[in-house]
Amino acid sequence: MRWDNLLSDDSALFGADAVTTRTFDTPEFRGVTFHEIRARSILNRVPGASRLPFEWTVNPYRGCTHACVYCFARKTHSYLDLDTGLGFDSQIVVKVNAPDLLRRQLASARWQGEHIAMGTNVDCYQRAEGRYRLMPGIIAALRDHANPFSILTKGTLILRDLDLLREAAAVTEVGISVSVGFIDETLWRTVEPGTPAPERRLDVVRTLTGHGIGCGVLMAPVIPFLGDSPGQLRATVRAIAASGATSVTPLVLHLRPGAREWFMAWLTEHHPHLVRRYERLYAEGPYAPKWYQRRITRHVHELAQEYGIGPSPSTQPRAPITDTTRVRPRDERPTQLTLL
Ligand code: SF4
Repeated sequence: MRWDNLLSDDSALFGADAVTTRTFDTPEFRGVTFHEIRARSILNRVPGASRLPFEWTVNPYRGCTHACVYCFARKTHSYLDLDTGLGFDSQIVVKVNAPDLLRRQLASARWQGEHIAMGTNVDCYQRAEGRYRLMPGIIAALRDHANPFSILTKGTLILRDLDLLREAAAVTEVGISVSVGFIDETLWRTVEPGTPAPERRLDVVRTLTGHGIGCGVLMAPVIPFLGDSPGQLRATVRAIAASGATSVTPLVLHLRPGAREWFMAWLTEHHPHLVRRYERLYAEGPYAPKWYQRRITRHVHELAQEYGIGPSPSTQPRAPITDTTRVRPRDERPTQLTLL
């Protein structure tokens, strides 16, 4: 494993001697290996050329047991010589010193208190967080420095930190987005096998908004031919609206290298009749054609209006992370933001 070559989506390089490998013999972690490392840096600057609505990110984990078949962060595991398929789902890098490091870096005279986005690479509330509990220390550090931040997640575990989030929201700008691309249970079980059910994620939205923390929904990904029928879109937007979400932002599935191979293998196994249609739809590259994206966006926005929920305004300074742009790390290898 190339720990010296850990991709700098967070500019952090690690020495091989800093790695401790662990497994836990509990049902939720069976088959999962954790690589605990001590990061040298935890604040990652998004390259200036990026059109992302934030400049700084914090990513305490690499790899994600939520195991979404389409996850765009899969490719980043290859930079560690780790497998981008099952390896991404089961070989989890944990930056165990993330809270202490962040607190130190926030206190630095050079730090200007900019917005920090989390959940930009992998889910910071994936199952590992239940054991490692890095987020409470991270949020506490941000609260203590009144530093604005946002979190995008599929994890219901975020509710464990509700009190901390409220305390932070009392002193700084806190933006939370939950990702729910569809509510079809059959589709969820096969394509997002390690995630909490969509309805449970919407319960998170309900609880957060009920406690005065506004929460938007990133409706992502909308999966062509499997989750994009008018009935499915309507049911999803209706459920999102009923959850009290402050906004809904639709985003069509992207298939980039690393995710594309894994997703197409899944499609071949579960929906072989769709393989040719996907090859045609994604013939030009990782994005579905503009006409298709526009059609979905317009449809969702119309439904959102009907159900009385606004899309995320394009002028919003800290919009949810939407994977519409790519981050170019300093070493020129591509990394991506995920559709959490
Ligand atoms: S899409 Fe998000 S939640 Fe799903 S595996 Fe990737 S990082 Fe985890």
